[in-house]
Amino acid sequence: MKKIVVFCGSSLGFNPIYKNAAIELGNYFVNNDITLVYGGGKIGMMGVLSETILNKGGKVIGIIPALLKKEEVVNPHVTELIVTKTMSERKILMSKMIDGYISLPGGFGTLDELFEGLTLGQLHIEQKPNGLLNINGFFDHTLKQLEVMVSEGYLKQENKEMLLVGNNVSELMLKMDSYIAPEKSAVINKVINHDHKL
Ligand code: AMP
Repeated sequence: MKKIVVFCGSSLGFNPIYKNAAIELGNYFVNNDITLVYGGGKIGMMGVLSETILNKGGKVIGIIPALLKKEEVVNPHVTELIVTKTMSERKILMSKMIDGYISLPGGFGTLDELFEGLTLGQLHIEQKPNGLLNINGFFDHTLKQLEVMVSEGYLKQENKEMLLVGNNVSELMLKMDSYIAPEKSAVINKVINHDHKL
């Protein structure tokens, strides 16, 4: 994988274990020549991750919507900064550019981005690995919710398994590297063909 988008908090969280995870992932990217694509911020987890990579000579592409592009928020050191008109334009650009998704601890923004990527995978619009770094069991409750969705008949087990979960960086990256997307089901095929005719 050459380019990976990372979604993570615009806050740092209270426990330093999360910040350390962002540093560890940043170091992994530099050591493996992976370009970071992210929200372009200098605050919270986004700031730690991007600065870790930039300080070691790695590449960082920030994609930020105009409404968030304030001086106190944007990381001015990024290798490339792309400003989009809207949040949705940013998401489309990000997804076109990258080979995979990773989410670290964060809030609403992070969960929105995580589930958008999974939805694209579920609809077979994309077939990219989507990883969750479950540091300190931060996402245990989110994962429990996914189990409830499966047991209550709202989510297919095979689609749930598209989400690759690692408790540390090396475990997650191993899963990302060996990911094989599930086969397109006949039902989805029908939906997509129908959509294209509209
Ligand atoms: P949150 O998890 O709610 O803190 O939101 C973080 C996610 O939303 C990041 O992955 C960003 O892509 C996006 N985001 C939220 N706030 C900002 C900001 N101030 N600057 C850039 N991106 C942001």
